[in-house]
Amino acid sequence: MGKQEDFVLRALEERDVRFVRLWFTDVLGFLKSVAVAPAELEGAFAEGIGFDGSAIEGFARVFEADMLAKPDPSTFQILPWRGEGPSTARMFCDIEMPDGSASYADPRNVLKRTLAKAGERGFSFYTHPEIEFYLFKNVPEAGEEPVPMDRSGYFDHTAQSMGSDFRREAITMLESMGISVEFSHHEAGPGQQEIDLRYADALTTADNIMTFRTVIREVALSQGIWASFMPKPFTTHPGSGMHTHVSLFEGDQNAFYEAGSEYQLSRTGRSFIAGVLQHAPEMSVVTNQWVNSYKRLMFGGEAPSYVCWGHNNRSAMVRVPMYKPLKGASTRIELRTIDAACNPYLAFAVVLAAGLKGVEEGYELPREAEDDVWSLTERERKSLGIEPLPKSLNEAIAIAEGSDLLAETLGEHVFDFFLRNKRAEWDEYRGQVSAFERDRMLPVL
Ligand code: GLU
Ligand code: MG
Ligand code: MG
Repeated sequence: MGKQEDFVLRALEERDVRFVRLWFTDVLGFLKSVAVAPAELEGAFAEGIGFDGSAIEGFARVFEADMLAKPDPSTFQILPWRGEGPSTARMFCDIEMPDGSASYADPRNVLKRTLAKAGERGFSFYTHPEIEFYLFKNVPEAGEEPVPMDRSGYFDHTAQSMGSDFRREAITMLESMGISVEFSHHEAGPGQQEIDLRYADALTTADNIMTFRTVIREVALSQGIWASFMPKPFTTHPGSGMHTHVSLFEGDQNAFYEAGSEYQLSRTGRSFIAGVLQHAPEMSVVTNQWVNSYKRLMFGGEAPSYVCWGHNNRSAMVRVPMYKPLKGASTRIELRTIDAACNPYLAFAVVLAAGLKGVEEGYELPREAEDDVWSLTERERKSLGIEPLPKSLNEAIAIAEGSDLLAETLGEHVFDFFLRNKRAEWDEYRGQVSAFERDRMLPVL
């Protein structure tokens, strides 16, 4: 038994832990949990806890149902909302097949595999997400518009604001679980909030995002309200994105940084951006995985619709932030497509794979977009070589189906399951008769 395992076993006694929740994530990005008694943990560290994989979205076909959840001791934390003494703890798990090999269906493993590939080239990958979400007055009922919790807007500070009380409680809880928060503020939509996590290696960030979603929902429920990461809950208000700042490090050197070059971006940084741009349409089904995701990417609201980059251009898909003098370690790029309802493990894996491909093959960075790309005409965009992102889940699936990068990064099993599942979602959606159609047609036809 390693040091970290020993630490966990001691902490179980010291913190009077009665239940340990073993967490993992299904292919669509939903958190799964199985609670075990502390006495089971020594065995769990050694051999894993068996469960029926066929019951989990995307995990297994029925004939290979047995899987093992092996807790990662470095992720041990007490769940603050369950109270102390006796308390409840959690650990993220890696999923293994009965023969001890890593499960091909485990999104955490997909990311680990891609990180290992980057590692072979001497790179580590860091991410910093800006997570947006809405707070509603009550639990959403089918067919009803949700009611935002307030009427404030971007950066508003109003007396006795519910939003800032909410953020204070949520941030305190996140920090007690070892998740550092860098900024938080009211976002542009009524009831819309943003909380930005401090940068960390991509695996830690993805785990943190899963925890974040749970904490935000728990705090909302404890205050009698509802939190949602749906990408576009309202037709007329901005959607919720998860802009993600990314960087590559070589040892303790930021590989995107080069003193004196344009925007202080190194050759590696430029090729990484080029890779992300070139493969953005095929990654879209992962970074924006729902029918609803494409409604966020439609009309501005600071969410991108076109494949381009810029340094101070909020209509661009990739932005090189300039608000700090870009000194060494902080050089990074901001990717603005990803939404808050993605599977963060898969999203980070495909972004890293696309960027690495750009670096390996020395992709050239296209010219920067200096204009507001929404205000250009279709022709102007064409002449600048600016392509649109997929306009619907249907388009995104069609592009993804032919993608070697996606098949290779996700692995055949996840790739097949994922696209089949998304195709089914689209087919169900396109058969729905909507209020839009009835309101337009019944009065006149
Ligand atoms: N809510 C916007 C989005 O959906 C982002 C607003 C911002 O720039 O922070 O991406
Ligand atoms: Mg924002
Ligand atoms: Mg941003």
